[in-house]
Amino acid sequence: MYNMNNLFGLSETESKHLVNRYRYLLRTLRENTSKEDRALIRKAFNLASEAHKGMRRYSGDPYIYHPLEVAIICSEEIGLGTTSIVSALLHDVVEDTDYTLDDIRNHFGDKIASIVNGLTKISDFMEMAESNNTSAQAENFRKILITMADDVRVILIKLADRLHNMRTLQSMTPEKQQRIAAETSILFAPLAHRLGLYNIKSELEDLALKYNNPETYNEISSKIAETASERDAFIKEFLKPIIEKLNQTDLKYKITWRTKAISSIYRKMIEKQLDFEDIYDIFAIRIILDSTPENEKGDCWRVYSIITDVYTMNPERLRDWISVPKANGYESLHVTLMSDKGRWVEVQIRSERMDEIAEKGYAAHWKYKEHNGKTSTLDEWLNSIRNILENPNENALEFLDDLRFALFTDEIPVFTPKGKLLLLPKGSTVVDFAYAIHTDLGDHFIGAKVNHKLVPANTILKSGDQVDILTSETSRPSAEWLKFVKTTKAHNAIKTALHKEELAMVDYGQEIIERMFTQLKENYNEHLIQKFAKHLGYENNKQLYLAAAKGLLDVKKLKQFLQSQHTSTFSRLFKHSSTNKNTADNSQYIEIATDDNINAMDTNEPIKYVMSECCDPIIGDNLIGFFSNPHTLEIHRTNCTKFQEKAAVFGNRVTKVKWEENRPLEFKTSIGLEGRDRKGIVKDISRLISEEMNSNIRYFFLEVTEGTFSGEIKLYVNNIEHLKQLIEKIKTIDGVNKVYRKE
Ligand code: MN
Repeated sequence: MYNMNNLFGLSETESKHLVNRYRYLLRTLRENTSKEDRALIRKAFNLASEAHKGMRRYSGDPYIYHPLEVAIICSEEIGLGTTSIVSALLHDVVEDTDYTLDDIRNHFGDKIASIVNGLTKISDFMEMAESNNTSAQAENFRKILITMADDVRVILIKLADRLHNMRTLQSMTPEKQQRIAAETSILFAPLAHRLGLYNIKSELEDLALKYNNPETYNEISSKIAETASERDAFIKEFLKPIIEKLNQTDLKYKITWRTKAISSIYRKMIEKQLDFEDIYDIFAIRIILDSTPENEKGDCWRVYSIITDVYTMNPERLRDWISVPKANGYESLHVTLMSDKGRWVEVQIRSERMDEIAEKGYAAHWKYKEHNGKTSTLDEWLNSIRNILENPNENALEFLDDLRFALFTDEIPVFTPKGKLLLLPKGSTVVDFAYAIHTDLGDHFIGAKVNHKLVPANTILKSGDQVDILTSETSRPSAEWLKFVKTTKAHNAIKTALHKEELAMVDYGQEIIERMFTQLKENYNEHLIQKFAKHLGYENNKQLYLAAAKGLLDVKKLKQFLQSQHTSTFSRLFKHSSTNKNTADNSQYIEIATDDNINAMDTNEPIKYVMSECCDPIIGDNLIGFFSNPHTLEIHRTNCTKFQEKAAVFGNRVTKVKWEENRPLEFKTSIGLEGRDRKGIVKDISRLISEEMNSNIRYFFLEVTEGTFSGEIKLYVNNIEHLKQLIEKIKTIDGVNKVYRKE
């Protein structure tokens, strides 16, 4: 068929290897693959080989090895058909060679062109994500998943691509290895899990662990190898009586066993705080039945009945995914039995059909779907992912969190009063249930009955619960619910409802405060409002408006505040940051501390200091400050005529200033602290900061609850060393437990 010598410019050994692997690909094709399909695969292989001619991978291998291996994974391990195999062969052609998408369309048609286009787009996003910025990555993940939502084959091929890249990761640079391994465990392994591709998921996770945590990986894999023969002997002994009994029936079956993935053993060790030796289910036994679709369910339960006659089972660990399959289509019956040796053993019972779905996931699921006519919960899941993707308010990191949650969680089946089945993530509450049915039902939720009993809103649902939601027209979502809802849908709906309510409250509160100003015959002024909010200890104007809306403010407070503003005299120190202290540069401005009064009420707004051009003040001059606006202070010489003109008109804007000499530069920073409250602690802390460490405190806030305090200090330091010393010193104060720099 091919001339073995220098095929596509390859060496003889390379050509041989390539042809062997291509023949292997042909052997993995479905039996019913037509002549036309085979010709199309050949055509794609030829085009890809030609296009990647002369290109090599990091490992030095010819580039064409990669798309060919990806195609083999698609066919052999995922069970995909011709369209996907052709797309896999072509997946890097548009990205990396002179061929265009139009070329692909002309040769292979629209469908394959659109899949290749999706794969090319994903590569672009992945490259952008290389910036290493988490939120950028999350944003790119979102784009990747949007692409996926067009045709799930895009993501299946992408998973095959990623799997091959992970298998050949050793030739990459260590930085790339880390980045690619991290992406794999954050995005691709959960995706594979969700699509039911258990083998691929496990291999991806194992490979990611191998690069992210090589010591652990090597330790566990060598322990698995060391214990292999002992384990095999144990399993054979364990199975003997089961096989004897099964052979007395007419059931056609086979039994397999394998150790679980290294990554899943590792996860168990971490979660349950166990040593390798203490994990009992490092392997699982599978009894796979050759049964017809009509009989398979009954046959599985027959096996269940037989093996539980032989050994005692643990009812807590019985998992029936035959009656209610997992959302990704997984069906199986899991039983955990107590062996004669006093060791728990997990046995999975399933039919050949169920086994294929478990191994090949989504693709196999569709192959069988026509036979049983059931609608796919996987479709529903893909829809819910689309919902997450289309939520425009979500910030990228939150999105990633939601997504990881959506990808990882297992569902439990619950029922409506009319018996309609709903799959909800484990840990869902009755409020999640309400929102899962309809947003309106959640928004007006007032209570729920589970199995006819009235329960509180935070009640966590159990498998098989029947839930009846009670509503009231006037009832509204509560912020408390956010603490316990599990589903993204409920979370987002509650946030939206609360946000709407809050916006209305803020508007109302602002109106109230505006009216107070009118009442006091004062001009309403944003800057004043901001100072007023700070004065009362609110973080921002919005909080102030909310307080007003709730009736927590009265006009007296505002009046007092406004009076204090009129009488206060500004007295500020300032210093000049210019390196040349003799010529003041008018473009320079710096922030400095307020004077030595420790004033927690002061505005946090930085003030710009501008050396005015008209008189060019220098050190030694008598100085005066003039607020050209609330945030900008012009520095003049007292005898400057321009200043005098201005001061004559706007006398209230004049403020005293003086050079601050012989002081190093200072930087504003903020530290948080926690500890046990005691008398005098505030004095001790502030004395240490201002006297011993010679630092200016700008803001000092402590909140005490039940004998413990937490708080924040804003202050000025000369440099990072100064800050570190300060933190260490504060830690030595009796009662202080934790001191840290706030970001
Ligand atoms: Mn690739």
